Amino acid sequence: MTAQPPGDATARITVDLDAIRHNADVLKRRAGDAELMAVVKGDAYGHGLIPVAGAALDGGATWLGVAQLREALQLREAGVTAPVLSWLHAPGTDFDAAVAADVQVAVPHVWEIDAVAEAARRAGKPATVHLKVDTGLARNGAYGPQWPELLTAAAKLQAEGVIDVAGIMTHFIFADSPQHPSVLAQQEAFAQAVKDAEQAGLDVRVRHMANSAATLTGSDVAWDMVRPGIALYGLSPVPDIGSSRDFDLVPAMTVDANVTIAKRVPGGQGVSYGHTYVTDRETTLIDVPIGYSDGIPRSASGKGPVQVGGQRFTVSGRVCMDQFVVDVGDLPVAEGDRVVLFGSGENGEPTAQDWAEAAGTISYEIVGRMSGRLPRIYRGQS
Ligand SMILES: *Cc1c(COP(=O)(O)O)cnc(C)c1O
Repeated sequence: MTAQPPGDATARITVDLDAIRHNADVLKRRAGDAELMAVVKGDAYGHGLIPVAGAALDGGATWLGVAQLREALQLREAGVTAPVLSWLHAPGTDFDAAVAADVQVAVPHVWEIDAVAEAARRAGKPATVHLKVDTGLARNGAYGPQWPELLTAAAKLQAEGVIDVAGIMTHFIFADSPQHPSVLAQQEAFAQAVKDAEQAGLDVRVRHMANSAATLTGSDVAWDMVRPGIALYGLSPVPDIGSSRDFDLVPAMTVDANVTIAKRVPGGQGVSYGHTYVTDRETTLIDVPIGYSDGIPRSASGKGPVQVGGQRFTVSGRVCMDQFVVDVGDLPVAEGDRVVLFGSGENGEPTAQDWAEAAGTISYEIVGRMSGRLPRIYRGQS
């Protein structure tokens, strides 16, 4: 089924919610007895927060994870009642809103658990937190002496009845290299951190560390919950080890556009800004109305793959703000014909992974940035 463009749209994102449900189900099976948290930060990696959250919950997820509190509050405003964890906050965050909306908060530092406790006191009800320990990523977790300091503060606030320490979490350094020795070292450091928490008198119920790569390839990493993101969207976190298909994942996002104009040009015609591409014979050029304002990486100039009329071509010359050009040779292409940039790959079209390779990045960035002005169409809406 080809999605029809709404209004005057010339390019669009189609998100297959059945694929999200399927991928959630695959991940749930991988997780065994552990719960499945669907990571829906970054507007669900560019797929759309609210519809994806619903589909992930349909597919077996029981928790939702976001980076920013605002994303968590949007879920609540949309009527989502599942447990939601938000894990990245700066001083000044409105934790009153988190407590009021029953959003759980991951805290890496004493300043933050204190701020959450203040909000809980004001609300007159305990706030639920997860303690975030740094096991080597050196990013947003409690590092070195910050960890025992956080445990001491947490135990005190829990004894006071203002804070309920429900969870403890950490995050892997290597999302794409499960054989790296740091993976085991982080598992050991996390097990120690769990022991530290128990010794501090905390009875932590939800211990979690596994991202997509660990969920799909790791052993003994699931603990009480797994937190996959990219795999939920059907993309392989470890493209060097296995493709989406190898993991039985279905890419959920398709991006396509309609040709605005086709023209015959002679050999020697320079194409697009800077004429970095020059035709080598008489040929047909098509203009595709989607560009870097829509999230198409300019670094894929001359390299990004597309499918037209069942055949593969690449972007010819520079990607512009709103459009790019493709040399399709003698293929008969007419205005309005469909150009697929990427999709599930099931019909021979390129995938987000192919675009990642063309642009020198990872598939996360390709889908995650496709959230600008393009209309999103949902299939498989229940
Ligand atoms: C983004 C994120 C995830 C999900 O990572 P994937 O590699 O997309 O599976 C899990 N946990 C945390 C803390 C994250 O920031």
